[in-house]
Amino acid sequence: MKLLLNFLVLLITTITIGQNTYLYCGKLIDTKNGKVLTNKTIIVSGKKIIAVEDGFSQPKSADDIVIDLKTKTVMPGLIDMHVHLENEYNPKVYLNRFTDNDADIAFKSAVYAKETLNAGFTTVRDLGGTGVNISLRNAINSGLVDGPRIFTAGKIISSTGGHGDPTNGMRKDLTGDPGPREGVINSVDDAKKAVRQRYKDGADNIKITATGGVLSVAKNGQNPQFTLEEIKAICDTAKDYGMIIAAHAHGDEGMQRAIVGGVTTIEHGTLMSDETMELMKKYGTYYVPTIAAGKAVADNAKISGFYPEIIVPKALEIGPKIQSTFGRAYKKGVKIAFGTDAGVFPHGQNGKEFGYMVEAGMPAMETIQSATIIPSQLLSMDTEIGIIAPNFIADIVATNDDPIENINTMENVIFVMKDGKVYKN
Ligand SMILES: [Zn+2]
Repeated sequence: MKLLLNFLVLLITTITIGQNTYLYCGKLIDTKNGKVLTNKTIIVSGKKIIAVEDGFSQPKSADDIVIDLKTKTVMPGLIDMHVHLENEYNPKVYLNRFTDNDADIAFKSAVYAKETLNAGFTTVRDLGGTGVNISLRNAINSGLVDGPRIFTAGKIISSTGGHGDPTNGMRKDLTGDPGPREGVINSVDDAKKAVRQRYKDGADNIKITATGGVLSVAKNGQNPQFTLEEIKAICDTAKDYGMIIAAHAHGDEGMQRAIVGGVTTIEHGTLMSDETMELMKKYGTYYVPTIAAGKAVADNAKISGFYPEIIVPKALEIGPKIQSTFGRAYKKGVKIAFGTDAGVFPHGQNGKEFGYMVEAGMPAMETIQSATIIPSQLLSMDTEIGIIAPNFIADIVATNDDPIENINTMENVIFVMKDGKVYKN
C-alpha cells in the first residue's frame, strides 16, 4: 500500500513538473501598472504562473500545451465582491423559502457557481444565504463542483425585522424568535455571539444589513437598523477573527454608523451624501456599488407580480439611483471595489457591471483593477490573485476585444482558467 502511494505521488509530481501550459497573449492587461502589454507568453505549471515572457516562447518539452490567445485580450481572473450563489430572483423565490430544503438550494447553487466561473469570475465574496454557501465553498475547494473560489459570509447578521431577518413577512406561528444563531441580534452581547457563531459555522467574513433593503418583505428600504454600539461590537469581534465586514446600506444615517463602526465595505450606498463620501475617505472604507442589481430591480418592479406589492415602490425608488451615486463617489475619490449582487439578476451576467461603471465616468482600466488587484487586497489574497505574475495562482481569463476600447466585451469572457485548470476555451 505504501509503495503504491509513493508511486502515485511520484507520478503526480512528474506530470505537474513535466507538463507546462504556454498561453500566447496578443494583449495582456497589467493590472498592477494599469497598462495593456502586447505579445506575451504566460507559462503555467500546476496551479501557478511560473513565468511571463516577452514574445511567444517555444515550449521546452513535447508534453507542453500551447493555448493560442494571440487575437484576444488576457487578464487576471475577475473578482466579484458581492454575489449570492444560493439563489436567483424570479417571482417564485418568495415561495421557495417555504418549500426548498438545503439539498434543493445546494443543487441550484452548484449551477449558479458554474455560470459565474464561466463568466470569468474566478473568485467571489458570497454575501449571505442559508449557510449552504459554506458547503458550496468546501465542495468547490475539494474539486467536487466547478465554481469560483468563494469567500463567504454564511448567514447575514441583521436586527429583528431588519433586512436580513430570515422570517420577515411570515405568518406569526412560523416566525418563532430567531436570535444570534440565525443572525438576528438586538444587543451588543448578541452582536458578539452572532459573529462568533459565523466563525464556528465556517464563514470567512461578515455581512450586516445596516439599513432597510429593497427585496425584503418590509416597508422601509433605508432606515438605520443597528445602534452604533452594536455595529462596533460586530466589527471589533470580526477583526479578532481576521474577518472583513460588508455593510448593506441604502440610507445615509445607517451608512454613517457602519463606517464609523468599522466596516470594510459599503454595499449599494444608494443615498450616500457628500458628507458620507468624505467619511468613507477618512475611514478608508471601500464602496461596492452593485449598479447591475439596482437596474435589475427597477426593471423587474415594472413587471406585474414579479415582486410582492410591498417591494415595488422601494425597487422603483432605490434601484435607478445607484449608478449616479457611484459616479459621484468615484469623482470624489472614494475607493471602489467591484461588486454586482448577482442573484438579484441572473448569475453569469456579472460582466454587465463594467459597462455601467464606465458609463458613470470610471475609466475602463480602473474598472478592471477594481475587479482584480483591489479586491485581492481586501481578501488578503494580494500575493496570490489579481495580477498575472510569477508565483501567482494561475487564474486567467480572456475576452475577444480589448476592453479598454470596448468595455462590453467583458460580458463575453471566452477563456477561463482557474488554479491552472482550463474551464472554458
Ligand atoms: Zn446582496
